[in-house]
Amino acid sequence: MKLGKRRKLLEAHPFCCFCGGATPSLTIDHVPNRACFPQRQFPDGFEFPACQLCQDASRKDEQVFSFMVHLSDQNPANRDRDMAKNAISGMVNNHPMLVPEVLSGANDKRRALRQLGQQRPEGLYLDRVPAVSFNPEINRPILRYASKIGLALYYREMFKVALQNYLIWSAWTQATNLKQMESFVEVSGFLPKMTIGSRTNINFGDRFRYRWSASDPEEDVEVFATTCQFGDGMVIAVLIAEDLPIEEQRSGWVSVSDLMSTDSVPGLIENPLMRDY
Ligand SMILES: [Zn+2]
Repeated sequence: MKLGKRRKLLEAHPFCCFCGGATPSLTIDHVPNRACFPQRQFPDGFEFPACQLCQDASRKDEQVFSFMVHLSDQNPANRDRDMAKNAISGMVNNHPMLVPEVLSGANDKRRALRQLGQQRPEGLYLDRVPAVSFNPEINRPILRYASKIGLALYYREMFKVALQNYLIWSAWTQATNLKQMESFVEVSGFLPKMTIGSRTNINFGDRFRYRWSASDPEEDVEVFATTCQFGDGMVIAVLIAEDLPIEEQRSGWVSVSDLMSTDSVPGLIENPLMRDY
């Protein structure tokens, strides 16, 4: 980003939008991270004011998240061999425990397909169906980064920072997981406002788009919800709420201040789908 544009952006947005709005912004954070977009074609207008701490805090999460974005995109037009290679070596070097294992047994594959709600692709023998299994720990970096995207979109659409005591919850899946996609599609149906990340002269519709909705300003408690899809693959859902009754706080809600400063993870760590592989 050019220096002048950068300075202007920081002047217009003097506070970091990821840690509650009290820390001055010193840097510009591209969210979703640029590594998520093939051919380095990332959408315009997704630059956010951040403090150094928030920018640095998600560096490793970004690697895992963008790896999953590249891995799960089923649209051949979005394939980028070099970026996928980079994403893979980032995983091997920095997150060796999270590198997926290739499934080889026919029974494992049959079970995987069943759990995903998928049929064996026609004309393909079971032993040729590509499938991998993941360490469930991969959910942590992905859900943390999904929450960061949620905070960025909140800032973008609500024109204000989610405060420190606001709570976040997130979830993710991929388009091939037909079973989980059903619930994501259902949630998206309730989110009327649709945005497609765009860049001059490039159709971005199949690369990055999100839906969102916010509670009526008259309501007592403010709630913001968004679902985003990367290409024909990864999908995330993020909820941000001003306040919640105590009993609901147990099920994976994390405060904005904890999200960036601790190892807390918003959303569901136990993804039953992954655990059973
Ligand atoms: Zn910050």
